[in-house]
Amino acid sequence: MFTPRQRPALKAADLLQAADQCVKCGLCLPHCPTYRLSRDEGDSPRGRIALIQALARGELEADDVRRPLGRCLLCRNCERACPSGVRYARLLDAARGLPGVAVPAPRWLARLPYRSGLRRLLACYGASRLRPLVRRLGGARLRRLDALLPATPAAAAPWGVRHHPRRPDGTRVGLFLGCATQVTEAGALRAAITVLKRLGAEVVIPPGQGCCGAMHQHNGDAHRALEMARRNRRAFGAQPLDAVIGIASGCLLQLLEPPDGAAPDAPPREICRYLNASPSLDRLSLAPLGQRVALHAPCSERALPGPGGESERLLRRIPGIRLLRLGGEDCCGGAGTHLLNQRQLAETLRQPLLDTLAGEAVGILATTNSGCAIHLREGIRARGLDIEVVHPVELIARQLRGGEG
Ligand code: SF4
Ligand code: SF4
Repeated sequence: MFTPRQRPALKAADLLQAADQCVKCGLCLPHCPTYRLSRDEGDSPRGRIALIQALARGELEADDVRRPLGRCLLCRNCERACPSGVRYARLLDAARGLPGVAVPAPRWLARLPYRSGLRRLLACYGASRLRPLVRRLGGARLRRLDALLPATPAAAAPWGVRHHPRRPDGTRVGLFLGCATQVTEAGALRAAITVLKRLGAEVVIPPGQGCCGAMHQHNGDAHRALEMARRNRRAFGAQPLDAVIGIASGCLLQLLEPPDGAAPDAPPREICRYLNASPSLDRLSLAPLGQRVALHAPCSERALPGPGGESERLLRRIPGIRLLRLGGEDCCGGAGTHLLNQRQLAETLRQPLLDTLAGEAVGILATTNSGCAIHLREGIRARGLDIEVVHPVELIARQLRGGEG
């Protein structure tokens, strides 16, 4: 039996056995965003499982299943609804790992320096003369990628290796930076350091860490995802830590469920959960916030172990905050690489969220996943809305009374 924290990749021969746990009851169908859009059985969890079974039995070819399996968002709504305990995400990752099944990611995307250097590369690009040229003369794909980047990418100043609090409480945590998150959510990472220090924790940023590997895992490259998991375990395992803190719920889910199921030395913890559980949190003095804040719950945040609602619990500590919950269990469409290679689907799923935001007097949108943040930010900008997209920990850091910890 696999627990959520143990997720060895399925071998092709095990696919049928895992897929056979599905009794085809259909209870997951109303919860599946792609099925709700198209009403096509091939766009449903039950239909996708049937396709995987046919593929494993040799009745279908990779070409026959690539599109329906590629459209799955891996939102895991179906897993939560399934009474038979089908481990759908693991099944789909394994199926996408079979030859020819994964929708090929753009070649340039596979070549980016995920281990290190991506932040430097993007910061240089943001400050260079190339950017205005790309915006004016670049191809549609390049312009699309440019639109997903922050208007002014963070300067590639080093993160530092150790951040000491003014009043240490003996806790030492590692901070997971991620790859693109360092560029798109640099403010949230700085805010995490500020809040953790204020609580008394020493924050360590091991330089050897890299990408979490989620994108590779979900695109069928379990081998590369495993390399990345091992690299991060080595980086964070080099010294004793009480926890490894992540701000992006999607990366955190991957750190919790590495392809080989190996347990890291220090437990990965999502920042909102970690802060809510901290005995020192009551000591934080927060200034009131007058603005109305929309709160988006990413699929990856809902898939984390525990009862959920942690980002809302954290934000409700801010006096006077008025929250608008956005989207229920609907995926925003970002879904890893979907925002790049399933663009129409990604935009269709995002539309209702943008419509809600456009109709509400909201100045800030908070979300815990960096992929959702860049997807929503781009839509908000394109729609001409004046809404800032932030991580909940950024709001906490901004409202802290008494300056830096
Ligand atoms: S993971 Fe989400 S999109 Fe994929 S089949 Fe399940 S509910 Fe549908
Ligand atoms: S995945 Fe679960 S809920 Fe969906 S059809 Fe199969 S058994 Fe039923």
